[in-house]
Formats: sequence, structure tokens, C-alpha cells
Amino acid sequence: MALVVQKYGGTSMGSVERIRNVARRVARTYDEGNDMIVVVSAMSGETNKLVALCNEMCEFPSEREYDVMVATGEQVSIALLAMCLQSMGYKAKSYMGFQVPIITDSAYSKARIEEIDGTKIREDLKNGTIVVVAGFQGIDREGSLTTLGRGGSDTSAVAVAAALNADVCEIYTDVDGIYTTDPRIVPEASKMEKVSYEEMLEMASLGSKVLQIRSVEFAKKYGVVVHVRSSFNDNPGTLVTKEDADMEAVLVSGITYDKNEAKVSVMRVPDKPGIAAKLFSPLSEANITVDMIIQNVSHEGYTDLTFTVPRADFKKALKIVEEAAAKVGAAGVDSNESIAKVSIVGVGMRSHSGVASKMFSTLSNEGINIQMISTSEIKVSCVIDDKYTELAVRVLHEAFGLAKG
Ligand code: ASP
Ligand code: MG
Repeated sequence: MALVVQKYGGTSMGSVERIRNVARRVARTYDEGNDMIVVVSAMSGETNKLVALCNEMCEFPSEREYDVMVATGEQVSIALLAMCLQSMGYKAKSYMGFQVPIITDSAYSKARIEEIDGTKIREDLKNGTIVVVAGFQGIDREGSLTTLGRGGSDTSAVAVAAALNADVCEIYTDVDGIYTTDPRIVPEASKMEKVSYEEMLEMASLGSKVLQIRSVEFAKKYGVVVHVRSSFNDNPGTLVTKEDADMEAVLVSGITYDKNEAKVSVMRVPDKPGIAAKLFSPLSEANITVDMIIQNVSHEGYTDLTFTVPRADFKKALKIVEEAAAKVGAAGVDSNESIAKVSIVGVGMRSHSGVASKMFSTLSNEGINIQMISTSEIKVSCVIDDKYTELAVRVLHEAFGLAKG
């Protein structure tokens, strides 16, 4: 007998009929002899409606009241699921986050879970009750309702699994698992059987539609095994778990891309101590995160500096950098919004050489120019012209042998 946490997202909970389907799945796992905690999201589209209603009421809704509002979506779905299970003859009980309680900090709309009191849930489980918990929400120490950020039910589920020491946390969604790349670009992309926490974090752009990234950080910290799978079939999905020897044998596990960055270059910056700080401090003060940075070798006392920022912050960043560049006596600022970052990810890179050079030659064979490169232990990223994104993803997927069997 195991303790299983199952989480169902908005699509799986999208209608009364779909909730019945969820209840049948929950009941089946329970009947196999497991203790069950089910964490659910609001019915699909509901949270968006609630957010829209807040924005219709006023331009800048207070964050506290925003959370009171958007937390209602999950209240509907826990009640419906618990009712359905009861009508099927099972003992079931719903909990809002505050009833558990799931204690968070007070950062409304992006609160972090600090503590979960599992006492009541444990008692319910002991007498055979299926516990249904509202995802996405908690309560702070002052007693105000909080929410965890969009997609936060995944994090609720992993946190509940960690707090109650569950054997597995199954995240049911509308896709079969995590793929080696975006199947819309590469139809031959294959489902990964398992992926390490570190890889999953690096593949945020692939996985973030499937798993809230914070839930992966949580799973990693507490060693929760997460199984991502579809609520519409019985196929095994993808296990997100700690690194093992099989994973290391694979050179590259996945290819990701990101079209949400822009590039800024500062030309002929005087090469002396303190200049980088003078350029980057105003950006961090404006809360703009800088991703890749390249500083060229200096030449006659001057150097060029190039970096990327989120495209959404591009205009703001450019203005700040132009001012800072003038102050430090740089020759000028150049920029480019039409870039993309393509990355290869895999824990196998730690123990194999030649992975980066294979990436570079694959791109160059297609005549794709690499504008910037950055590397971490398990990732190599290249900035390229964004019109080549799809081509780059396709040839890299092929070069590293990731297509289906
Ligand atoms: N209902 C929330 C949202 O739409 C939380 C979730 O679905 O995970 O963001
Ligand atoms: Mg989700």
C-alpha cells in the first residue's frame, strides 16, 4: 500500500463529464489499495475569467483582494470532485488551502509555501477518506488568503506530497509527458521516459507549459518523484527524478528554444575596473534580468560588451543602457530584437566531450551564424537569428539522435 498524490489540471477538470472521469481514475487507484490525496486546479478558463473580472473592476486591484478572488476557482472544483466521489460510494472530503492549512509567506499572487500541517489529512487517510485539496492557494501567518502564481497547483501537489511523505506525485495533464523538443516543430520528437530535476529546470521553456518550474525546484529539494502523464489515456508518462546512470549515458536529452530575449551591445567601452558594474547596476535596479553576457578581449584599451535581456523589457533596458553607456564614455549602443536562443540540455555532457563542437558544426552546416554562446555544466546555448529557430531545432534534434525509435 502506498500514499499517492494525484494532481489534475484545468483541462482534466474542464467539465462535469471530465470531473467524473477524474473521479473514476482516483477511485481506481484507491481500489488498488492506496491512500489518496488529490490536488486540483480550477476548471479550465475559470482563473482567466476571474483575473479579467478583477481588471475590469479597477486598473490596479489590490493584491490581497486579487488573491481572494482568484482562489475561488479551485473552491468550485474541489467541491465538485468530492461530491462526485461520494456519489460513487467513496468517503471523500475537500480542503481549501487555509483549511489544511498550507502556510505561505505574504507575497500575494506569487506566495511561497513555508509549511504544511498534515495532521488533519493524516487522520482522514487513516479512516479511508480520499482527501481533495485545492491547488494554487494557501494562507499567510496573518490569516490572509494567498495564491502561488499561475500554474501553482503543480507546486501545491509537490509540496503536499513532500509534507506527507508520499510515494509518488502524479501530475495529470493534457499531454503525455515531456518531449525531447517542441513537437509542433519536430513531429518526430519523442517522449522522455525520465528526466532529471536539473535537466527539467534547464528545459523550462519546454516543460513550463506542463509543469510550473517552482514545483520542480520543490521536488528536487525534497526528493519527490514526479510522474507527468495524461488524464485521457493510460500511457506511462515522464518521470522527473534524481539523476541516474542511464541518464548520464545519453549525450543530449532535449533541445529547447527561446524567442523571448533581445540583444544589446555596448561598443568601445573603456576597459577599466568598475565599468561593468556601472552598466549593469542600473538594469538590476530596474529589475531587469540579464541572461547571457559576452565581453570581448580588449583592444587598445577598449572592449565591446554584449548581453541579452527579456524582450518584454527591451525598450526599458535600451534606454537605461544608452544613458549608462554615455556616462562611461562608450562609443554607442547597438541592439537586435530578432534573435533566438537555442539550447541543448543533458546531464551526459558532464562526462562526454565534443558535445558543444557538434552543436556548432551542425549549425554551421546549415549556414546558421552563431552570435553568442553560453554554457553551463549540462547546457550549451547559442544565440542565432530568430528566423532560423525552427531549422536549428530540427537539425540539432536530428544530429543528437533524439527522434522516435
Ligand atoms: N488555476 C490556476 C491557474 O490557472 C492554478 C493552476 O491551474 O495550476 O493558473
Ligand atoms: Mg498547469
